[in-house]
Amino acid sequence: MHSVNPATGETLATFDDTTEEELEQKLAAAARCFADYRLTSFDQRAGWLRRAGEILDDRVDEVARMMTAEMGKTFAAAKAETAKCANACRFYAEHAEEYLADEPVDPQSVGATQAYGRYQPIGAVLAVMPWNFPLWQVVRFAAPALMAGNVGLLKHASNVPQTALFLEELFREAGFPEGCFQTLLISSKRVEQVLRDDRVVAATLTGSGPAGRSVASIAGDAIKHTVLELGGSDPFIVMPSADLAKAAEVGTNARLLNNGQSCINAKRFIVHRDVADRFTELFVDTMSATRLGDPMADDTDMGPMVSEQARADIEELVEDAVRKGAKVLCGGERPEGAGWFYPATVITGITEEMRLHREEAFGPVATLYVVDDIDEAITLANVTEFGLGANAWTTDEADMDRFIRDLEAGAVFINGNTTSYPELPFGGVKGSGYGRELSAHGIREFCNLKTVWIGSGDHHGDPHTE
Ligand code: NAP
Repeated sequence: MHSVNPATGETLATFDDTTEEELEQKLAAAARCFADYRLTSFDQRAGWLRRAGEILDDRVDEVARMMTAEMGKTFAAAKAETAKCANACRFYAEHAEEYLADEPVDPQSVGATQAYGRYQPIGAVLAVMPWNFPLWQVVRFAAPALMAGNVGLLKHASNVPQTALFLEELFREAGFPEGCFQTLLISSKRVEQVLRDDRVVAATLTGSGPAGRSVASIAGDAIKHTVLELGGSDPFIVMPSADLAKAAEVGTNARLLNNGQSCINAKRFIVHRDVADRFTELFVDTMSATRLGDPMADDTDMGPMVSEQARADIEELVEDAVRKGAKVLCGGERPEGAGWFYPATVITGITEEMRLHREEAFGPVATLYVVDDIDEAITLANVTEFGLGANAWTTDEADMDRFIRDLEAGAVFINGNTTSYPELPFGGVKGSGYGRELSAHGIREFCNLKTVWIGSGDHHGDPHTE
């Protein structure tokens, strides 16, 4: 596996894949570890997880430099991601016990002397993760999973082996027992073998639709639980009552965050006709002002795309739209020179036959639509196969209620851009996947909610029903 700097095209390091023998050792270690680890206390786990947070804080520059070199996000963004991970470690260290407390039920209503639901860990969970937030995507799975008493096996994206190996080192150095969190350097072809192994009980995948479909169908066949966090094509709706300058500024950030390669980037800008001219002018100004360049430099807003292929894919989407009559308002031309850079681009005049209308633009390209009213805005927002986040800008309460009720999305953010917080559930509907990460819901995904019923021996239930 290769680690290649997208800003230069230089190969930074090469790693051997995990051999069959090593894979067997890791699966055995995970099973061995789980047998004891599931019995550790919340306090013990919290101590190790807090230590992982401290290590991230202590080594923030080094970790961030590694991520920037390996996948091209700006150094500032990589530092923020590292800090966010440290915070999530502390958050779950503090809240896991309360999130997984027994859920009592009125014993009389079920003929018991005591009755409750108890959350218990389930075993080794396979995490198939993407490169775009190489630390955060993994930590937002690992922190709750480890606090719940599960153990983790990571199959990271093939282009971020350095970060993948660092994550194993992080949890080991923090004190988690051997086998508790392990990295497998395997290609996607070997995921099926791991997923079907009896020692692996469930899987979480963050990535594209095709990868999700493949993992979910194998897991379904093996009757193993999955959580899928897939793509998104989030709408960003601007209504007449919105603060247009703020919407343009936040919208630019929402589109370009992570060099335009986030599942929750705002991708489709849907603007009410009454404010369309003014918003377009402001938005094109802020998008055009984006400084593209060396991701390590302080004055860079946006670094390169992750790979030559990723840039070619986004170029194809733009070319397809332009060929069919769309108009580029800014950007749209790759710069000269080394690295896989692509500029902040705004494109309008989108019609149904253009691929950009329905497909996810996983790069710094915003489509801009003009609509006559809220009904048209909502219909257009819901047109894609995705349903991850949705942004709407309005100060009108009736508008807000409509957006909250009718947008088909896992999250609706009003007057702000979609962001993940450990406190809030995160996930999608439709083609964006299922299940939730983060919050109390995320930690419960990989638990057995065991029903406990304790009686006096006098009550045997209803003999006529189940
Ligand atoms: P991807 O190709 O699906 O890769 C993601 C992970 O899945 C990688 O580890 C990859 O391994 C693995 N993989 C790919 N095909 C697989 C298969 N058939 N079976 C098993 N594993 C497979 O995704 P990407 O293109 O790198 O990432 C971008 C996509 O992820 C976008 O659609 C984005 O919106 C989505 N995403 C979603 C979220 C979310 O939270 N909803 C967050 C971030 C990204 P290899 O690298 O070895 O191929």
